[in-house]
Amino acid sequence: MVSNKVLKSSLKALKEFAKRRLPDEEIIALDARDECPVEIVRDMCSPDKLGIQLMFVPEEYGGLGGGTFDFYRVCEELARIDLGVATSVFATFLGSDPIFIGATPEQKKLWLTRMAEEGLLFAYGATEPDAGSDLGALKSVAERVMDGDKIVGYKITGLKQWISNGGIAGAYTILASTPGGPSWFIVDKGAPGFSHDKPEDKHGIRLSNTAALALDNVYVDADRLVGGVEGEGLNQAQKVFGYTRLMVAAFGLGGGWSALDRAIPYSTKRIQGGAPLSEKQGYTHKLIVPHVARLEASRAYIEETAERIDAGEGTLNTEGAIAKFLATEAGNMAADASIQALGGYGYTHEYMVEKVKRDVRITTIYEGTSEIMEMTISRDRWQLHLKTRGQYYHEQARALEALHTRHPGVGAGIAALAMHALAEVMEKARVARLTRHQHILLRLGELIAYAECAGCLCRRAVRSAENRLHEKANLRFDATALAALGRIFAREAAMKVAEEGLRWCTGADGIGEAEMAAFEAAVALPAVHRAQAGLLADMDYLADVLYNRATKRAVAAAS
Ligand SMILES: Cc1cc2nc3c(=O)[nH]c(=O)nc-3n(C[C@H](O)[C@H](O)[C@H](O)COP(=O)(O)OP(=O)(O)OC[C@H]3O[C@@H](n4cnc5c(N)ncnc54)[C@H](O)[C@@H]3O)c2cc1C
Repeated sequence: MVSNKVLKSSLKALKEFAKRRLPDEEIIALDARDECPVEIVRDMCSPDKLGIQLMFVPEEYGGLGGGTFDFYRVCEELARIDLGVATSVFATFLGSDPIFIGATPEQKKLWLTRMAEEGLLFAYGATEPDAGSDLGALKSVAERVMDGDKIVGYKITGLKQWISNGGIAGAYTILASTPGGPSWFIVDKGAPGFSHDKPEDKHGIRLSNTAALALDNVYVDADRLVGGVEGEGLNQAQKVFGYTRLMVAAFGLGGGWSALDRAIPYSTKRIQGGAPLSEKQGYTHKLIVPHVARLEASRAYIEETAERIDAGEGTLNTEGAIAKFLATEAGNMAADASIQALGGYGYTHEYMVEKVKRDVRITTIYEGTSEIMEMTISRDRWQLHLKTRGQYYHEQARALEALHTRHPGVGAGIAALAMHALAEVMEKARVARLTRHQHILLRLGELIAYAECAGCLCRRAVRSAENRLHEKANLRFDATALAALGRIFAREAAMKVAEEGLRWCTGADGIGEAEMAAFEAAVALPAVHRAQAGLLADMDYLADVLYNRATKRAVAAAS
């Protein structure tokens, strides 16, 4: 991990670079021309210019050796500038990941040093025309080239689809099947038989280069097989999901906030019905405040997960999936609401929010779609539910109840209601065998994400009140505002888990008429409804915080 001082100066340099090289007018023009600013991307990754890629390269290979928390902060900032350019930087990081995770010491030294010293751009070639979410359907093959009984090289043949930096990278990591199983190979730009298609004409992230790749008997020496052992490819890809998904989560967060940070000042100047829109509760409480709460709940989860990964708790793939799911869905909703918040102006290019909306849309698709995230989350937590005989979320609820006793104002008691309800819904799904319906399994994934993020935001509010936030944590909101956010989001999560849990269990015919009242009591529907008391006051308070209004009302601490 880099020091906080180095992180701060990197973020500052990134902002200054963007101000000079990527002002709004330039971004709008590049977006309209559907052009990837290749020179700017190269300068961002050039050690003599910005050198932002150094954050992602370990110190021993000439980089800064950033940790997961640093990656999150940098990715959020990149996304606030432009998600297309952010994707280019991310693709270089992703492309080098199989090397970072699985390469031999010699391969690491060669390729990671080139990334640090030359600013070599990578592309990550996993997806194929028929293998997207299901990489097991991979068709690219790498045939061994033998000299006697020694493998001297491989000939790779196949097609890759939607590859970021596909037309501009200097080196590509390509996933292909060998006789020993799927494996990563490092392929140079310009290798005979290797070509890329023209850039895709995309809905958004039009400043990024996305291209299909074709490999026709492309020869690579045996030392281009990452790690030197066949069949490790899918393992190597799996090992990084925790933090790569956190990075895309940070993209969702940055994208969502960049839209809201345009809508908020706009609404202070736009007068309708004799007053600024920012003073209209029906406007702020629909188009701004709930989105802030969802984004900050996902931030809490991103920060907590990043901290745990950096502390050596493992890859935390499920937590990465929860963070990605909520942050990218929240970012997407926030950007959509921001178009609405600007009315007709929001629908034009000049005001940028429609571009942000088009851009942020990709974050729910790449690096694992939202539906794949729901499945990943649900399958993992289902196992925990079974292993603990249904107690996993009841235990989480009890921990939150204990937190509520010590800190009654952060919404932990309401988040506990969400957790108890979740445990009951999952138990009903087990007893009635409802997860045989894939839809129920995936809906559980969504409910789990909401409940876990609600608990996490309450913990973050407490840490803030006790001055125990991570030293690199985002400090936009103080402890009182975080407590209000905790209460707002916990109410949403509790409603969602109890009502939608009930809906899907009933919808799958898992609850007979005779059991209905008992199940409604088990998910504590009346308590969840009563917990909504005070919601408007909290939203009023948060709107005051967001608009920096002197009239800030003190909200009763107790929820
Ligand atoms: C702009 C862009 C950049 C990209 N960059 C890269 C890159 O650099 N490198 C790379 O390797 N890939 C890249 N990708 C590919 C990206 O990761 C895939 O598009 C993504 O994983 C989804 O795969 P797919 O497009 O084949 O969709 P599919 O897998 O066909 O999914 C289509 C829909 O079906 C749903 N679905 C899929 N499987 C299931 C299931 N089992 N149950 C229920 N629903 C399901 C999905 O959630 C989705 O809604 C990029 C894609 C885009 C658009």
